[in-house]
Amino acid sequence: MKIYNSLSRKKEEFIPIEPGKVKMYVCGPTVYNYFHIGNARTFLFFDVVRRYFEFKGFEVIYVQNITDIDDKLIKQSIKEKIPFSEIAEKYIKAFFDDIKALGLEQATFYPKATEYMNEMIDLIAELEKKGFAYEKNGDVYFSVNSFKDYGKLSGKKLDELRTGARVEANLQKRHPADFTLWKKAKPNEPSWQSPWGKGRPGWHTECVVISQKILGESFDIHCGAVDLIFPHHENEIAQAEALSGKPFVNYWMHGGFLNISGEKMSKSLDNFFLARDVLKKFDAEAIRFFFLSKNYRSPIDFSEDILIESARAMKNLYSFLQQVDYLSFMNENPEYSKNQIQLKDEFINAMDDDFNTAKAIAVLFKIRNFLAHNKENELKQYAHLLVELGRVLGFFSNLEEKLKLNLSDMSEELIELLIKYRSIFKQEKNWKYADQIREDLDKLGIKLKDTKTGTEWSLDR
Ligand code: AMP
Ligand code: ZN
Repeated sequence: MKIYNSLSRKKEEFIPIEPGKVKMYVCGPTVYNYFHIGNARTFLFFDVVRRYFEFKGFEVIYVQNITDIDDKLIKQSIKEKIPFSEIAEKYIKAFFDDIKALGLEQATFYPKATEYMNEMIDLIAELEKKGFAYEKNGDVYFSVNSFKDYGKLSGKKLDELRTGARVEANLQKRHPADFTLWKKAKPNEPSWQSPWGKGRPGWHTECVVISQKILGESFDIHCGAVDLIFPHHENEIAQAEALSGKPFVNYWMHGGFLNISGEKMSKSLDNFFLARDVLKKFDAEAIRFFFLSKNYRSPIDFSEDILIESARAMKNLYSFLQQVDYLSFMNENPEYSKNQIQLKDEFINAMDDDFNTAKAIAVLFKIRNFLAHNKENELKQYAHLLVELGRVLGFFSNLEEKLKLNLSDMSEELIELLIKYRSIFKQEKNWKYADQIREDLDKLGIKLKDTKTGTEWSLDR
């Protein structure tokens, strides 16, 4: 299995530290607002990485932190006039609602920054003790000059960073690229007691401390979108490796942005759509399809047209499963033929090649074509294969419900037609046939309700 490692800038064979186990950490949300569909792209892709490892038989420990204290949270708490902890609580709940609606699997752990204050203070103190950090007026900085590998992930040179720093230069720092480990509290800000006075730790310290506490000093995979390479992940490496002298993470994975008209979707540019709003218009699997049909490292431009097409493509897969009556044999164990095993291998080869989900989706459609044109006796196996592999990408999660209840446009029209005939029967006072239609629809789980404006129908869940 090959993974593109941002650190070496090439695809490398994946070798876990502990055989059979994958320890991965995904930088999570700052809970000061709802997350947007760009954040969702990153969360969703790593959900697929995790599913694929599980499909390959690995035990995955998946950690996603929740940043429940930072500048933006404090600002929002002033804006909404409620304590920062209530802001966090509100948006943590929203985060869980939204990831569920997006069909993401639960992480193994969702640690919060505020639960790791003591550990963060300990790490900063240790860095200071060993000469990697220094204090100035209640703030503590990491000294980039003290760590010889600084810049190895982003490829940035310290000299460049010096000339890059301009007007806003902080005169307290020894080098402009020195980053804040501990931030002194301003009056009335939430704060924690520390050897440097009241304040709070920085975000770069949060992720390094939490990931190491849960996954160990060195672990397998650290993930995020490309914006996190610098400075966030570079600064995590500096802190971890300055102290341990060992590689912090073996594989760094970074996803491309979701753009909007060629620009990164972000809160600060105010060019975003909230994931929850997109979900009101589009099915979660259509969104998933849209993201996964492109390489995860390439940028994607947000497009409603492509989302509509994606929804259509998913509907097409479902309708084939419906046509072969998948539910009637879903619990049988399939025995795959040579051709089916070959298709499965093709899928695996695509995913083994740095998670080429676009190619993997193409294999799903190849299987669908066999489903469309194959002899009766192999239909079941193709249907099983489609579902088995589709689920690795996170599709077909509520298959039973969808196949039972998802009606094609045609069946909706047929229901309307029956309602029309029932009303004709009623007008002719042919109660027997009118009732018969109602009863028969009822048996299919379709409920009719007569209102002043006509008959409405609904699916009985
Ligand atoms: P944030 O809440 O901004 O810290 O972002 C949470 C996660 O979403 C991080 O992994 C970011 O790298 C990622 N992210 C932010 N904006 C985008 C975007 N436009 N496209 C893809 N991922 C993003
Ligand atoms: Zn992080």
